[in-house]
Amino acid sequence: VPERLIVLDVDDTLYLERDYVRGGFASVAVWIEARFGACGFFDRAWAAFEAGRRGDIFNDTLTAIGIEFDAELISTLVTIYRSHTPSIKLLPDAAAFLSRYLGCCSIISDGPLLAQQNKIRSLGLEEKADPIMLTEALGDGYRKPSPRSFDLVQRARRVQASQCVYIADNPLKDFVGPKQLGWKTVRIRREGGLHFDRHSGDDVDVEIRSLDEPAPLPN
Ligand SMILES: [Mg+2]
Repeated sequence: VPERLIVLDVDDTLYLERDYVRGGFASVAVWIEARFGACGFFDRAWAAFEAGRRGDIFNDTLTAIGIEFDAELISTLVTIYRSHTPSIKLLPDAAAFLSRYLGCCSIISDGPLLAQQNKIRSLGLEEKADPIMLTEALGDGYRKPSPRSFDLVQRARRVQASQCVYIADNPLKDFVGPKQLGWKTVRIRREGGLHFDRHSGDDVDVEIRSLDEPAPLPN
């Protein structure tokens, strides 16, 4: 029985999500070029992302390169994006952390199920964390900030709340659930992370910049 449980988020906690986005756009761009013979999708989409645009990048980029689209085409592109095989790697500090605490780590991650499963596989997390909880698999209403996934992981590992910590990057939704249960919370604020500019709220115990920094882990 482990004395402590360290639960980690995935996106922008163990690798940079922008690297996943880049690969997704590249896969979509290949398909667009084959289907329409049109170039420029990747550069425009990536520039829009870098400029902070979110939510309608596909529509915007298709318009910019002169391709008419409907909901069906957008849905096809979203499927290509979410099902692409990511070329992502654990950041060095994340790899070192998971090795150092091997046997103590679990994962809780939101996001489209297929996309998250592909990320888990690319990062080799099956051998490093248990259980791996993808909230999308729990059904509607159990994504973060719901405490449900945190409660399930705590029960699965048979530990007390005081023995648990959640390490994640998004102050908007990541820490409400674990805090409700009485867990410790650590916010990792990585340069290049999508939520880097957001300030931490009251539900964050400690903020760190890298997993090499000492965090207040349960004993
Ligand atoms: Mg995240």
